[in-house]
Amino acid sequence: LKDFTVVNEPILSYKKGSKERKELEAALNEAKSNIVDVPIMIAGEEIRTNEARFQVMPHDHQHQIARFYYADEKLLQKAIGKCTEAQQKWDKTPLKERVEIWDRAADLMAGKYRQRLNAATMLGQSKTTIQAEIDSAAELIDFVRFNVFFLKENAKFQPISEDIKVTKNSVRFRGIDGFVAAVSPFNFTAIGGNLSYTPALMGNSVLWKPSDTAILSNWAIYEIMREAGVPEGVVNFVPADGPVFGDTITKSPYLAGINFTGSVPTFNRLWKQVGENINNYKNYPKLIGECGGKNYHFVHPSADIESVVTGTIRSSFEYCGQKCSACSRAYIPESLWPKIKEGLLCERSKLKVGDVSEFSTFMGAVIDEKAFKRISSYIEHAKASPNLEIIGGGGYDCSKGYFIEPTIVQTKDPLDKIMVEEIFGPLLTIYVYADKDLDATMKLVGSSTQFALTGAVFSTNESFLKRALEEFKMTAGNFYINDKSTGSVVGQQPFGGSRMSGTNDKAGGPQYVTRWSTVQSIKETF
Ligand code: GLU
Repeated sequence: LKDFTVVNEPILSYKKGSKERKELEAALNEAKSNIVDVPIMIAGEEIRTNEARFQVMPHDHQHQIARFYYADEKLLQKAIGKCTEAQQKWDKTPLKERVEIWDRAADLMAGKYRQRLNAATMLGQSKTTIQAEIDSAAELIDFVRFNVFFLKENAKFQPISEDIKVTKNSVRFRGIDGFVAAVSPFNFTAIGGNLSYTPALMGNSVLWKPSDTAILSNWAIYEIMREAGVPEGVVNFVPADGPVFGDTITKSPYLAGINFTGSVPTFNRLWKQVGENINNYKNYPKLIGECGGKNYHFVHPSADIESVVTGTIRSSFEYCGQKCSACSRAYIPESLWPKIKEGLLCERSKLKVGDVSEFSTFMGAVIDEKAFKRISSYIEHAKASPNLEIIGGGGYDCSKGYFIEPTIVQTKDPLDKIMVEEIFGPLLTIYVYADKDLDATMKLVGSSTQFALTGAVFSTNESFLKRALEEFKMTAGNFYINDKSTGSVVGQQPFGGSRMSGTNDKAGGPQYVTRWSTVQSIKETF
């Protein structure tokens, strides 16, 4: 295999009059004026059932953009059969050929289909232009390119052979016989591509259940990979009801693994079902999950105020706080609070909420009615509780889209449920601590929630930062010093958390690809 280095895909500017802006505008118009019919795809066969559903634009929920269909248990079983069959042949395909397909796909994503992916992500998942560009363009392309790179790098590591005249030892990566189920979320188009196509790159075949609220963008990925040459049956596109999908895959003896991003209860349910069926499997299914967080910003009295303000606003409110990594609790020392409060409220008041196709919009709508109700119930909780005070925002309205104002709450109780539970919306809660209580407040960071996904500490004091690195070691899979808790870049900050945030298998890191392989050791004797 050819050696190469890999670089992150540059993020385009979308300046007025730029080529990319014109192309994006055309793609947005095209996507807005159509309802794309998205079939179930099983081994190249297009299937439409009576169970038709629609994807709408969250910021204009009467506007449908895609019609799709649910696969029932029978169809899912058919897909499992076809998928398992396809795996046998696919795993024999030379690595070089697989890599060429992925290279072609990355080029199609970066060029011909970039704006189709972005428009689908903007309209279907209510992302602004820049949030779409960093997701469905840059991160998606990076996952494809870096996973190929990491696969090649990993393949270079071979065991030692003491005397090569007598024996030669080697290892090789094989796909797992059976099928991998990929269950992907709405919040990152790139994660859809990573969860489904990375196991496939490694020689597995995949049953991909995309999120109902990311159908259009995920379908675009499916079509691109197909055009690039992924053979039929290797990845099967099967939107389905969550529990029906979970029950069917976990009952199959051919389940080779689950690649999951979503909620803790769903991942726990799948894990339990795998446990219940453990005697029936051909292989022990690999379980990889990323499940959410309650991410923090911890501010030390020595912090630079401007970095705290900018970082916290961006982390909490970009994409409506719907990144798994978004900051939703902040600990701020009393001595800095007046200035930080002033800064946060001033910046917050400038954020424009609305239609994401307008380039000046900062935040679109939250993903659907269920999310809208969940987030607004926390706002109501804040209004009703004597320990909580809404200091900015607090409004919500779903007459046209599922809009929620960027909201800042101050709490007197660092253990109130608003500081403990995952909300997944534009709601930031702040606990102001007395400077003398620094030690006790640091303890709260790790002890008050069950999650450990991302966290950030802001300080200009070297010795405090050293201490924070130690004391916050187990509180976050991705830890930031003097930067916001969001925005991990493939190949630069491998992403994932432990505790109830997931199995910490680090998407975008060098080990991720190997998790989707079953390695064979070979000893040749001469
Ligand atoms: N990697 C993303 C970030 O750091 C978050 C991914 C997710 O939401 O799962 O912002």
